[in-house]
Amino acid sequence: MDTTEPAPPLAEAQPRGTGLARRTYLPRIVGLGIGALCAGAGLYQADARPWVWCVMLVYCFAWPHIALHISLRSASPYTTERRNLLVDSFAGGVWPVAMAFNVLPSVLLLAALAMNNFATGGARLFRKGLLAHLAGAAVALLLVGPKFVPQTSFLTVLLCVPFLLSYPLVLGVVMYRLSIELSRRKDELVLEKRRADEANLARTRALAELASRDELTGLFNRRHMSDLLAQQRLGCQRSGDGFAVALVDLDHFKHINDNHGHAVGDSVLRAFAEQAGAAMRGTDNVGRWGGEEFIVIYPGSTAHEAAQGADRLRERVAATVVTTPAGRPLTFTVSIGLTEHMPPESVDALVERADRAMYQAKSQGRNRVVTLSKAKARA
Ligand code: GH3
Ligand code: MG
Ligand code: MG
Repeated sequence: MDTTEPAPPLAEAQPRGTGLARRTYLPRIVGLGIGALCAGAGLYQADARPWVWCVMLVYCFAWPHIALHISLRSASPYTTERRNLLVDSFAGGVWPVAMAFNVLPSVLLLAALAMNNFATGGARLFRKGLLAHLAGAAVALLLVGPKFVPQTSFLTVLLCVPFLLSYPLVLGVVMYRLSIELSRRKDELVLEKRRADEANLARTRALAELASRDELTGLFNRRHMSDLLAQQRLGCQRSGDGFAVALVDLDHFKHINDNHGHAVGDSVLRAFAEQAGAAMRGTDNVGRWGGEEFIVIYPGSTAHEAAQGADRLRERVAATVVTTPAGRPLTFTVSIGLTEHMPPESVDALVERADRAMYQAKSQGRNRVVTLSKAKARA
């Protein structure tokens, strides 16, 4: 026996879980309305007493509205509606006894209830329904006593025909609507998941981008440039492609800060970043190495080949004018130390040589590029 309570169908997973009650309303009106003909025929054949007729009429014509009303007012409409289905099953046990087991209307009634219960709650509700039939039959036996006249008259057969024709059709319509609703919900869920995945991916990318950027200049930060250097070195080991590196240091930057203030110093750093971005080839990468020092990677280039690009950068910077808050034009220059990777040296060794080249540029008078290529290093 399965002990798990089946989850409400998707349509019931809506705000108040009233889907089942609303979906059951029409089949119950039609089923009991037309079923009243079958039951009436059976009761007529069984010569039922007037109070039994009254109970049947109230049940068939008032119960569908009462059932909807109590489900909608319930704190848990889905559970209440399942209980209402058991009331139907209970009644399904009463009528065969009241009809003296008239075969056709009894079988029709029980078959319709079995379909209902299985379609709504699977084997579990079906089994509960059988128990409710037994309880209903027991109560009916106590109240009306045992009587067994199973023959179905031709009039009863005729009065059962409308039920036989209409009930399966109504059930089919309801099931069709439910399957459409389910597939619509499934499409919605797939779409929702795709949107959530895309948003997550975009967020992850944005975070990764943010984590790799320097806040002041928007250029790559030191950690990201270190990663790129390590990648280049690895690529060089695998494919033999070399790369060049330039360390760029702003000249007399302390004077700029001292004479014009830290804010102007920051503007100069941003102006440099703008020029560096504009002077780079698409494959080159520039980042802030720290303070007023920047690093450029030229993938696939020797120091000799990168020298032209480095000098273009130096010239662009020298031609850049920053206007101070006092309205004074301010120019600045950079000293660049350029070198190339010499396998199998480490990234640290490479950057150290670029640094040495940069200090040579400083000592030779600043605003220049000094290159330490393999040839020069060997010399
Ligand atoms: P040199 O030509 O020899 O490189 O001289 P320099 O004055 O540029 O070098 P120094 O290392 O003496 O000074 C660098 C200054 O850069 C010191 C520091 O206060 C300033 N600095 C570092 N980071 C920032 C920053 O984010 N903003 C500003 N405004 N200044 C910074
Ligand atoms: Mg400096
Ligand atoms: Mg410096």
